[in-house]
Amino acid sequence: MSQCLSAMYLAVVMLLSAGLVGCQRAPSELVIYSSRNEQLIKPMFDRYTAETGQAIRFVTDDAGPLIERLAAEGQNSPADLLITVDAGDLWHAAERGLLRSLESPTLEANIPERLRDPAGRWFGLSVRARTIVHSTQRVKPEELSSYEALSEEKWRGRLCLRTSKSVYNQSLVAMMIAAHGEQQTEQIVKGWVANLATEPFANDTRLMEAIIAGQCDVGIVNTYYFGRLQRDEGDIPLKLFWAQLADGGVHVNISGAGITTSAPRAAEAQKFLEWLSEPEAQAMFAGANLEYPASPAVKADPRVVSWGTFRASELNVAKAGELQAAAVRLMDRAGYR
Ligand code: FE
Repeated sequence: MSQCLSAMYLAVVMLLSAGLVGCQRAPSELVIYSSRNEQLIKPMFDRYTAETGQAIRFVTDDAGPLIERLAAEGQNSPADLLITVDAGDLWHAAERGLLRSLESPTLEANIPERLRDPAGRWFGLSVRARTIVHSTQRVKPEELSSYEALSEEKWRGRLCLRTSKSVYNQSLVAMMIAAHGEQQTEQIVKGWVANLATEPFANDTRLMEAIIAGQCDVGIVNTYYFGRLQRDEGDIPLKLFWAQLADGGVHVNISGAGITTSAPRAAEAQKFLEWLSEPEAQAMFAGANLEYPASPAVKADPRVVSWGTFRASELNVAKAGELQAAAVRLMDRAGYR
């Protein structure tokens, strides 16, 4: 009898605790999935928590796996916010119905239109310029003009590129399709391939090291990699050149964010996103990686300012997503590996 009672007691306790777990309210913390790396993003979370008391939990991974994870988790996803380092990735997440439209006068005032989704599902938080870098010893700035001109014969055996697998190059070529059309872009990319000094590199830093080593004279990089090299190595025989797309501007991409469709704490997530668009957070977000603040009201880091000013392409960065698949096929046809 007593055995039976204790068994019943145990069952009741188990039922109760199961019930308690089931009824437990969602924790108040914000959950963020980020492909921007921890070292750059955690200081932002820490600052926000210190200012507001809002706890933040985060997961970092590449955008692809994070987007798949969001899709697989569906309505049960704990994630409130997705942060990526490429407009194309945000575009894909939005296309798959994983991000919700926001109405936010704050975000609309702080973030220029071309750096956010026309439907309000994602917003750029920093600008990443992808432009020409050249040897100061073997190239004069007067010899340079556009991304397109790097396909000219005078650069035969003198060009270094990062691999076409990089989403940065996929977005660049997508924007070139938007600017030049597919046919002309294919000719340009074929010209680049013909001009390559060596196999494409795994990253922008290796590319710049190859220019310094004399393996090639010119390449295309995100400016913050140039900034890191300059910061770490001091005086390097390299310089940035503000390249032009067909519309006259430099190709820019974004690191940005959107609130998930299934966000359990959408209102809190929106507050955080709006906070990220305000001056102090903008300076910190961009400054940590030597990028440009998305908000035109905020000054870049002094090192970034020292590279001079440029005009950015007017094309909306959403084009990077819309035309990314076409860009990948085009680079494949052109033999760009
Ligand atoms: Fe990067």
